[in-house]
Amino acid sequence: MGYSREIFEEVQKKLYKKRNEAWEELERKKEILYERFPEARKIEKELSATALQSARAVIAGNNSKTELIKLREKNRALREKLREILLSVNLPEDHLEVHYSCNKCSDEGFVDGMMCECMKDMLKKESYNRLNSMSPLELSSFENFSLDYYSDVPSAAGEQSPRKRMSLILDFCKKYAREFNKSSPGLLLTGGTGLGKTHMSLSIAREVINKGFGVIYGSAQNIVSKMENEKFKNYQSAEESERHYIDCDLLIIDDLGTEYNTAFSSAAIYNIINSRIMMNKPTIISTNLSMKEMEKSYTYRTVSRIIGNNIRLEFLGSDIRQKMMMKK
Ligand SMILES: [Zn+2]
Repeated sequence: MGYSREIFEEVQKKLYKKRNEAWEELERKKEILYERFPEARKIEKELSATALQSARAVIAGNNSKTELIKLREKNRALREKLREILLSVNLPEDHLEVHYSCNKCSDEGFVDGMMCECMKDMLKKESYNRLNSMSPLELSSFENFSLDYYSDVPSAAGEQSPRKRMSLILDFCKKYAREFNKSSPGLLLTGGTGLGKTHMSLSIAREVINKGFGVIYGSAQNIVSKMENEKFKNYQSAEESERHYIDCDLLIIDDLGTEYNTAFSSAAIYNIINSRIMMNKPTIISTNLSMKEMEKSYTYRTVSRIIGNNIRLEFLGSDIRQKMMMKK
C-alpha cells in the first residue's frame, strides 16, 4: 500500500493514544473499586506477586512443578475472590481488564506481523481527511456529479452534445475507479474552467482510497510551492516530499498550468510525471490549457510525455459553476 510516511505516522500516533486511553481507563476503574473495596487492591497486589513467583519458579526449573501447582491454585482462589467482589456490585467479570477499541490487535495495528483491519481503516480515513483538507470542494463523489448542468444541445451540427460527452466520461471514470490498480493508465482531463474536472478526479480518488490504495491530491500550485518551500528549509525534506509524489499509488495533479511558472516548477513537475511514467504508475492530470498553451509552458518534451502516456478526456460545456450558483 502506497500511503505516505506522514499518514502512517499519524495513524501510529492515534493508535498509541488509543492504547494509552485504554490503560488510563483501567487505572481509573481500579481506583474507584479499590476505594470501595480496599481488599480488592490487596488481591490485585497478591495476584501480581504470584505471577512474579511463577515466572521465577519456571526459570529456576528444579522442583518448580509442585510450587507452580501451588501458585496456580493460589491464583485461582484470588481471582475467585475478586470475581465475587465484582459480582456483589453487579460489575462484569472482565471489569479489571484492559478494554481496547480493537480486540484483535489490542490497538497495536498489527497481529502476527500482518496489518490489522482497524489500522487499514484508519489509514483510509486519514487519507480522506488529508484529501478533504487540501481539496477545494468537500470530497466529491460520482453520486453527486450531476449531468443536468450540461446542455443536451450540440454546439455545432453533427457534434456530440456536452451532456452526451459528459455522460460517456462519467461512465468511463466510474469504470476506471472500479478497476483501478497500480498500473492503470494515467488520465489527462482537459477543457475550460468550471466543467467538473476537479469534481471528477476527486470522485475517482474517493473510490480508489476506498479500495485501499494510497492517493495524493494536490493542485500543481500546491505541489510546486510545497517542494520549493522545503528545498529552502533543507534538501533532504524536499527530496522526501518528492518521493511521496513519485511513490503513491495514484497522484492527482489538479489545474496544471495555473502555478507560477519558473524553471524550478517546470523541472519539478516534469520530474514527478516522468518518474511515475517510468515506473508505470498512474497520474491524473487536469488542465484548462489547450495542448498548444501547454507546450508553451512546459516544453515539448513534457507535453509529449503526458499525451503519449495518458488517456485524454475532453470535457465539454460551459462553466457549470455559474449554473449551480443560479440554482441555489
Ligand atoms: Zn486492530
